[in-house]
Amino acid sequence: MELLYPCVAMNLPVTDLLKHTDRCVKCGLCLPHCPTYGKTQNEGESPRGRIALIEGLANGRLALTPRLEAHLDSCLTCRACENVCPSEVQYGTIIDAGRALVAAHRPPRTHEKVLNRLITRKPLLRLGARLLCFYQHSSLHRLVRGSGLLKLTGMTRLDALLPPILPVRTLQEYYSPLGVDKRGDVALFTGCVASVIDTQTLNAAIGLLTACGYGVYVPRTQGCCGALHMHSGAPQQAHALAMRNLEAFNGLKIDAIISTASGCGAPLTEYHKMDESDGGLKKFSEKVRDISEFLASIPWPENVTFAPLEQRVAVHESCSLRHVLHQHAHPYTLLRRIPGIDVVALPGNAQCCGAAGTYMITQPVMADALRKDKLAALESSTAQLLVTSNIGCALHIAAGLREAGQEIEVIHPVTLLARQLQPRFSDTQA
Ligand code: SF4
Ligand code: SF4
Repeated sequence: MELLYPCVAMNLPVTDLLKHTDRCVKCGLCLPHCPTYGKTQNEGESPRGRIALIEGLANGRLALTPRLEAHLDSCLTCRACENVCPSEVQYGTIIDAGRALVAAHRPPRTHEKVLNRLITRKPLLRLGARLLCFYQHSSLHRLVRGSGLLKLTGMTRLDALLPPILPVRTLQEYYSPLGVDKRGDVALFTGCVASVIDTQTLNAAIGLLTACGYGVYVPRTQGCCGALHMHSGAPQQAHALAMRNLEAFNGLKIDAIISTASGCGAPLTEYHKMDESDGGLKKFSEKVRDISEFLASIPWPENVTFAPLEQRVAVHESCSLRHVLHQHAHPYTLLRRIPGIDVVALPGNAQCCGAAGTYMITQPVMADALRKDKLAALESSTAQLLVTSNIGCALHIAAGLREAGQEIEVIHPVTLLARQLQPRFSDTQA
């Protein structure tokens, strides 16, 4: 049979993609775990349906149509299906390759162009964060919101997602361990968007790591992890970003590369899948550890203690932490170090919240429907605080809470832990 496309993506020719799709025995056991199928009951919105569509596209039996493309676009890449598949179908690989197939046959879309131009350029990101900080702290914010300009430019949703932006500060290249007994050195992965809008989590991670006796490198030349590119059909750009990170961390004598956002950590642990012949990518992936997993695995110095917190705290398990890294137990272990805290799982944690990278912007209807379930679960939990290991989930859920007029803070588990740390990590050090 003639193959429509000679090559899907780097190192994944159509024949290999077809080997992956062929593993699916169409049993349908994944269907009840798929959020988009759950909401629509449409086979095209299920993992089995999407695999069949990608298979048909790859072997030339199906033509690329807007409807087919829409079915692939509406996948959250949450990988809940992969997690339960008895045939070990690598759904994540299949959907990324399927989207690359589609992207090769149409011009880049606006959000893909923005992705490429903005998040891969740190100076631009930092400038953007500074402007946003000014915008939020001046009367411009109220003026723009009241003028209807946001609606006119289609920016209302983006504006609603913005958390309060703190002034951008450059992190040091190295933080020495606190106390006398040095345990080792690690390096911190800061990401792209998170490096400018979630600096409190990065500071918290540095505070906890140094308190536990680790020196922390923060390589300056590191950049975006490439996940958004990989999931939007741009594997070449994702590979280029991986190589940049490889170079940035190369040569450091470290025990681990620590990632705070699980949405970045998950793809970092899968860099080796981009090019299995590249030993450097494999070594890099093997060094990556999620901050909660790393902190839960080390012995803590006896003098590190936490101030009590008499609150119920719900844990939202991000899909990347639960379905890809399989490390969702660690935030609970860590938070239970705080005396008096009542840590509970957010009901329905197996289902995605709808954030899913750029999904919360590009697929607002499904994203909001899934978020509604999370807000209801949070209300039923009666928690006063929500923690999650992924910045995307935090932004999406927090925007929903603000919209609903609820004042529940959404933060990273290590931010909460660092807040309760005694003595507190001085902001002047970070
Ligand atoms: S992806 Fe796995 S669980 Fe889903 S239909 Fe295929 S074989 Fe069954
Ligand atoms: S990745 Fe998530 S949304 Fe996509 S098919 Fe699998 S379960 Fe459904």
